[in-house]
Order: sequence, then C-alpha cells, then structure tokens
Amino acid sequence: MQLTGLGVSPGVGIGKALVLKRGTRDLRFRVPAFLVDREIERLMDARAKSREQIERIKERIARSAGAEHAYLFDAQLLMLDDAMLIERAKGTIRNERLNAESALQRALDYISALFDQAHDSYLRERKGDVADVVGRLCMNLRAAGDPTDLFKDLEGPLVLVADEITPSVIAQLDWQRLAALVTDAGSWTHHTAILARSIRVPAVAGLRNASTIVAPGALVAVDGTTGEVLVDPDRETLSQFEVRQKRREAYEQSLDAYRELAAETVDGVQIRLEANIESPDDAVRAIERGAEGIGLFRSEFLLAGGGQAALTEDAQYRAYRTLVERASPRRVTVRTFDVSETQLRIEHAAVEGTRAPLGLRGIRLSLAMDEIFQAQLRALLRAAAHGPLRVMFPFVSGLEELRSAREAVARAADTLRSRGTPVPDVPVGVMIEVPSAAITADLLAAEADFFSIGTNDLIQYCLAVDRTDDRVSRLYDPLHPAILRTVRLVARAGRRGRIPVAVCGEMASDPVLLTLLVGLGLREFSMAPAAIPLAKRVLRGLKASDARQAANRALRGRTTAEVEQALVELLSPVK
Ligand code: PEP
Ligand code: MG
Repeated sequence: MQLTGLGVSPGVGIGKALVLKRGTRDLRFRVPAFLVDREIERLMDARAKSREQIERIKERIARSAGAEHAYLFDAQLLMLDDAMLIERAKGTIRNERLNAESALQRALDYISALFDQAHDSYLRERKGDVADVVGRLCMNLRAAGDPTDLFKDLEGPLVLVADEITPSVIAQLDWQRLAALVTDAGSWTHHTAILARSIRVPAVAGLRNASTIVAPGALVAVDGTTGEVLVDPDRETLSQFEVRQKRREAYEQSLDAYRELAAETVDGVQIRLEANIESPDDAVRAIERGAEGIGLFRSEFLLAGGGQAALTEDAQYRAYRTLVERASPRRVTVRTFDVSETQLRIEHAAVEGTRAPLGLRGIRLSLAMDEIFQAQLRALLRAAAHGPLRVMFPFVSGLEELRSAREAVARAADTLRSRGTPVPDVPVGVMIEVPSAAITADLLAAEADFFSIGTNDLIQYCLAVDRTDDRVSRLYDPLHPAILRTVRLVARAGRRGRIPVAVCGEMASDPVLLTLLVGLGLREFSMAPAAIPLAKRVLRGLKASDARQAANRALRGRTTAEVEQALVELLSPVK
C-alpha cells in the first residue's frame, strides 16, 4: 500500500509502525513477545485500581444520596469481572500482542456492537457504562506510567504513525529509535514538523487517515522529501528505498563541508545565519552545524513535561544560563513564552474565559499573567550576565503591547537591582508575525531594538490560512504578492529605523525563498540547524545583485504564479 502526504522533513526512514492516536487518547502498538505477561499485569493492576475507585464512588453516593442511587456502580463493578471485557482484552493481548489500551478498546467495540443490536433500550443505554469503565481502566493504565516510556521496550527502529502529535511528546522520545514520523494532520510549519527537521527525523504530514489504516507493527518506509509512505513494501521496493536512504545520507554528508565556511555571497555580501532551537542542549549541535548564534530560542519548550516547576525564576535562570554558556561567545535571542492558556496549563483567574487560538497567547498572555512574565524576565536578565542575550516578544500586534512589555522588563530589572543583582543592558526586540505589527513596523522600529520576522505566523495571518490545517495548506504560499510586499515593508522600516531585521520563519530555509529574501534586502536569518549547511551552499553560489534583480521582478508579479515565474526565469533552480 502506498500513501502520499506532504514531505515536511527530508530523508528516508524505514521501521515498524507504532500507531499513536492522541485525539482519541488511544495508544495502539504491538508489544514484543517477552513483554506480553507484563502487559497483562498492567491490565490487571488497572482493574484493581479501578475497582477501588468505583467502590469509593459507590460509598460516597450511597452516603449522600442513598443506597438506591449507588446501584449504577454495582453494574460497573460487575463489568470489571465480566469475561466479555477483561478476559477478551487479555486474549487480544496474548494472541495479537496488542497493548492493553487497544485490547480494551477492541473489547469495547465488540460489546458496543452487541448492545447496538439489542432491541431493549435499557441494554443499549448500558453501552455508556461500559465505555465509562473502559475509560477509567485506560486512565489508570496511563497513570501507571507515561505511555512514551513504553517505546523503549519495543523492537527495532520505529516509524511513529500518529493522528496528530505535539512537539512536547516528540521531545520526550528517544530519537535514536525514531526512523520516521508520519501524521494524519500537520503541515510544513507545524511545530512538530519543525522539530522533526531540527532533530533530523524524516517526516510526512497531512496523510489524513494513516493512523487508521496502517496496522501496528507493519513495516513502513517513509520518504520525507517526496512525501511517499509505503506500508509493507515488497522486497524490491524496499531495496529501492534503501538506495535512496544511502543517497540521501551521502548528500547530507556532502553538505557538511559547508558548515565551517562563511555565509558570504559571491559578490562579498555577508549574511548572518543563526539557528532556531527548542532546548538549551540543541545549542551545541546548532553551532556544530555552522550557526553564528541562536536567533530564536522557543522558550515555551521549557514547559514541556516540566509543568509548574519549570516556571520558577530559578529553574528558568538555570536553563537560560546553560543556553547562553553553551552558545558563548555567540549571541542568543530568547523569545518569551509563546503559548496559549491551555498550553500553559495554568488555571488563573485573570485569564479564565476564551480558549480560541487567536485569544490570549504570546505577549498578550504574558501581559495578562504578570507574575509569570516577571519571573521569566528576571530569569532572562540574570542569565544575560553570562553572555550576550537578547529578549524578543512573540505575537506583538502594536506599539501599546511593546511599551507594556518594555515597562515589564524595566520593572523586572528594578526588582533585581533592589535585590543587589547587577543587570546588564539587554536588547529588546519584536517578532513581526501579526499583520498589524508589519503594517506599523515604522512605529515599532522607533521603539524596538530589533525585529525578527516570523514568516510562519505572518503568512498564515496575512493570508487567513491555518498553517496546521493540511486541507488549506495549498493556499499557504510564501510567494503570494502580499507576503513579498509585507516583508519589503518591514525590511524598509528596519533600515529607516536603523535596527537589524532578521527572518526566523521556516521560509528562510528554502533555497529559492532564501534567495528572494536576500534580494529583498534581508541579511540575517535564523533557521533549523539542519538547514544551515544548505543555506551556506546556496549563499556562496549566489550574487546578491542577481537576487536583488530577481526580487524586483518578483515584486512586479500580480499573482503567486507570476511571482513564481519571475523567480524561475531568473534563478537556476538550486537544490
Ligand atoms: C514564526 O511564526 O515564523 C515563528 C518563527 O514562530 P513559531 O513558528 O514558533 O510560531
Ligand atoms: Mg510564530
């Protein structure tokens, strides 16, 4: 079987499918033979725990509402002993080597189908009770350990097949075991895809139903460049993929030669190439790949798995200090948390209410949660004593927000000084990723120390196309005339305001788009570390004057197709 999606992280990976359904919170995979008994033990432990919980609930209901209302839970207790449920699930674990969660789901599907056939409405309604019991069992299975811990016990290289998966789950996995990643949802600029590229795991997104049709344990071959996903390929096709894999590795190695070289065009224009990273540990790898500094540290990744503890000033200070020291003497730009309320996982009176994607996020959320923002700013200012650090605010929509954020920085500095801690001067910049910020870039340039254009968000909000929705990702086009004009506007505002302007969106890691951006006058870029050697190769073969000419022609394009044509005519394709 062959599936085709969107190649979002180049390279070829071959391995056994591990199917992960987070949407339904159902984790489906095949356990190795030697772990079958342990899997059954997990199920039995979950049953014991569920029994205790239901007994307690029953007692409470009986006490507060009378014994006659507790009968529902008697039915649930009986279900825990029903052979149709537990025995059936045990059989599935033993015979099909499926994990306990999916074995339970199977049993539930079977029982539900039986109940659906029943004419008795009372019986049909009992379906909900079985689902409730199965939900509780699964909850207890999950509580017994993080499902991702189980990966370590599975055999061979794995291809993770997921409906959707968050970067924080990927960040917790053992990447050495991950041959490739394929997802039903997602797109090139989805954070999971960005992360896959930075850890160099081939990935294909936008497959729609891969997590439903790929059987757990099936052999899967993935080409993250072309978007092809082969399920249980025959010997011959598999060996073709293996050849591709070798070729890809050789190509990557050939790029290694560029790591140490300067990012300078043929006509002597110096370009600054920095890296986008998600963890302080990535700094060393980024520098090895040829980064001149860290242009975007997505600080919100510190929250992944760390919860509240990661929010304290000291925990953050330690992380930023490590980052600055690892990158030293190179410059580091830290973006303050760019999360939504839900991601922050904090219930706070001040932010109750809307949970929309365009609700409280980025700088808005930080400004609404002063305590958390102050702790982050103090941690950053303290870390700045250990090396060059800049602070950048995400999702700024206008001058008021920049002023409020600057005022917050001044307050954090005052607090530190009153504690006797010296505070170095820290440049404060703005991400230009909301159209209103781009349009008022001249006003912002007068009060910001630098700009970094976040094309991932800027494009999606300029074009009103959700970057995580593969159904409209065709419309997500960096070559839309509106994007070219907007980037030119911001670059000009930066030049006139005499502040540096970088581009930190994924756009810069595409060779043709990088050329266009250089032609538009941009001289600083930040990208996934893995993209840096290729960017150097492109820049070293490019004349900035040709790029300028190409950009001028492209700017005259009235449609995306015309822009594209202008670029194709002027630039020999670089790959
Ligand atoms: C961007 O929006 O371009 C960007 C770099 O930030 P993120 O992808 O983290 O939203
Ligand atoms: Mg962004």
